[in-house]
This record gives sequence, C-alpha cells and structure tokens, in this order.
Amino acid sequence: MTNNQSGRNSALVRPQVYQFKLGDAVVTNLLEGYVVREDLHPFVATNATAKEVETLARQYQLPYPELEHSFTTTLIETAGKLIAIDPGFGENSPMPSAGLFAQSLTAAGYSTDDIDMVVISHSHPDHIGNLMTGGQPTFANAEIVYGRREFDYWKAGENIKDARKPTLALFQKVALPLADRIRFIEPNDTIAQGITAIEAFGHSAGHLAFHIESAGQQLMMLNDTVAHYVASFAQPDWAFSMDDDPDAAAVARRRVLSRVSQDHIPVIGFHIPFPSIGYVEATGAGFSFRPASYQFNV
Ligand SMILES: [Zn+2]
Repeated sequence: MTNNQSGRNSALVRPQVYQFKLGDAVVTNLLEGYVVREDLHPFVATNATAKEVETLARQYQLPYPELEHSFTTTLIETAGKLIAIDPGFGENSPMPSAGLFAQSLTAAGYSTDDIDMVVISHSHPDHIGNLMTGGQPTFANAEIVYGRREFDYWKAGENIKDARKPTLALFQKVALPLADRIRFIEPNDTIAQGITAIEAFGHSAGHLAFHIESAGQQLMMLNDTVAHYVASFAQPDWAFSMDDDPDAAAVARRRVLSRVSQDHIPVIGFHIPFPSIGYVEATGAGFSFRPASYQFNV
C-alpha cells in the first residue's frame, strides 16, 4: 500500500466550504483534507479481485489503481447550537494534504471557540485526531458527545489488531483524557434537537450514523457507513480494508442505505468526494450515489 503524500494537486485551489439550509438549520461541509492513494484494490474491497474493482472503476470513468480519498467534517447550526461532527485529523494528520479543518473553518467564518458541541461517530484517526491540539482540548467551549459502546471498546483496548495499534495510541492520547467531559450516548438517543444517533456498528465496534431533522427536512450523516462513493454503494458487501468488522459493516451499510433510498433522505459521507452530499438510489443488487447539484439552493 502506498500513499502519494506529496499531494500532487495540492497547489490547485479547490472548494473547501459548502453551505446550505436544511429546514431551519444551516449545514456546512468543510474540507478536512484528501490523500491520493494508489491502491483502489484492495483498499475498497479486500474480498473482491483487482479485476472486479478495476472494471467498476472504469464504468464510472475513474482512474485505476489511483484514487483520491477525501475527508469532510460537517457543522450543523441548529436551535442556537453550533455542532461539529467528526472534526478530522487536526494536527495529528499523517499527511500535509489533510488536517485542514482549522483553515476551512476560518474560511466558513467560524472559529473553534464558536463550537458548542463536538459529536464523534467513531474513534479512527481521521475522526478524532483533532479533539486535542498541543495537548489541550481543541474545542474549549464544546461538550463532546461519543457513543458509549465505541468509547468503551477502545478504552478497554483488548484484542486490537496490529493495524489498529496506532489508532488505539491516538485514542489514548486525544480521547481518553477527555472522558470527564464526554456525554455518552446509545443508538436512538437524541444528541441535540432533531439529531438522533443511528446504530451502524461494524466499521468500528460502536460506529454511529446520525439522522438530522429540521422543519420537516431530513438528512443522514452516514459518516463511515460507506467508504467510497462508487464501490461502497454499487457493492455494499465488498469489505472495506478499514472496516474493523467487515461482516457487521456490510449489514449496517445495507440497512442504512436501504432506509435513505426508500425515504429519499439526502446523505453526507465523510469520505465521499467534496462537497460530499447527494442521494442514494437502490439499483438491482446494490445502490448508486447521486451527487447533489442545486437541490439545496432552490
Ligand atoms: Zn474515516
């Protein structure tokens, strides 16, 4: 597995803020970063052949084996609170083309002190790294909300596979010290007005999606229920290499994608290419992602 970490496109200007209204809420997607990788297979499918993955990529006019893996944080301003969901790597980014949360936040006209609540979907580095900066909490005024099952899994730190040892170390550095100020939640709990935790275990032990509702409008934060905007939808049973429990992740993926496709709920995915929002349509055996265009502007 190789990462092209030089960020060969990093000199190019790209959109880093996308803001829209959802009912009475304002939703802002922030580019936290991206990385060019050269391993579409097996990155997005450890249980499919390279040929199968290449064929799917070609159908969607995607290069192979290169991919751009993207990271998007979402802010939700609702009922007088500014809520950040998965604020990214922050200073713990392993590559220069990520860890851009602060820069994108400034571009959107907010500061870290404005954030009232930080909600964590799961404990992988791209989602929790930014909880601390220089050994201090990054979000001085924020309540931290974390799934109980997820937090307890990493706190126990038992039977962690070698590939996840760095994740455990980062959790112990940036999340565990905050335990006293964390509000722990369970699936179906209300996080804030109109925001509900949805069980999507598998990508990590206690991974959560979040359902948002404001003035009759709905949105599903998929977080890492999907990994790749083509492969995870077209082939929901393909095992993403970063899924800690691939079988459970596939079950959760099918369940959540079925709901949003049936109910026509728009989705945001943390790893869907920026601006990371669209709709999901059921196809024969799987799903397809339809990127949004002007739907939220009119
Ligand atoms: Zn992730």
